[in-house]
Amino acid sequence: MALTPYRIWLATASATCAALLFLPPLRLILGVLLLIHAAMFIRGIVDLRSRFFCPALFAGDPGSRQIALTFDDGPDPDITPDILAILQRYGFTATFFVIAEKVRRHPDLCRRALAKGHTIACHDLTHGNLSNFRFAQRAEDDIRQALEIIQTAIGRCPRLYRPPVGLMNPHIPRALKRLRLQCVGWSRSGREGGNRILANIRRIGALAGPGEVVMLHDVLPNPVCRAELLFQIDRLCAEIRRQGLRPVSVGAMFGVAEYA
Ligand SMILES: [Zn+2]
Repeated sequence: MALTPYRIWLATASATCAALLFLPPLRLILGVLLLIHAAMFIRGIVDLRSRFFCPALFAGDPGSRQIALTFDDGPDPDITPDILAILQRYGFTATFFVIAEKVRRHPDLCRRALAKGHTIACHDLTHGNLSNFRFAQRAEDDIRQALEIIQTAIGRCPRLYRPPVGLMNPHIPRALKRLRLQCVGWSRSGREGGNRILANIRRIGALAGPGEVVMLHDVLPNPVCRAELLFQIDRLCAEIRRQGLRPVSVGAMFGVAEYA
């Protein structure tokens, strides 16, 4: 059994709790230790870069001049074709972390992205409000079902996975290991809330940089943001070209398999 930061945390947290029972005079020190443990656990949940629960890919080598564009939450017939058109105009490829239920409704969009040289990766089965509260076997079953839907659509089974909202829980790593999935985070985000925050969409165009894994969304919850989003993605592509960066898939950036 591999010694992950989470397992070490589990051992030291248990020891601290036990010490609290048997060494009451030290309760102040042990209480502080437990608070530190709680903070570590919360950071592990909300920050993939902590690699607390499992290893995650989130930034490449800045000296490589590579950049990885990633789009979450699609495919969406209202915006994905336009994003594909922009990428094609620049000759760029990207990685799409798709939602399986949407893939089931729009398999043609996934196939079109694949045919244009983009990578299809797994994001979630439904991306519902409770997606991050799936534990034990349920977590594995949902991810497995998502993989099966994607494989039915594109004929290939993804090996890259990004948890919804980037949140982890102690049960996801076991599912990823059994399904042979690699967890992928990001180094730069539009922070546009799945394209709900128009003010932040206006910052997307400035996210380019060497070695960055840029996380955006190809979903359109608010039609008002459509024109601005496409304008900013075009600006981002122009900036990538201006900096002489080379857009690559996540698999190519980190040298990992993208499909089974
Ligand atoms: Zn998402």
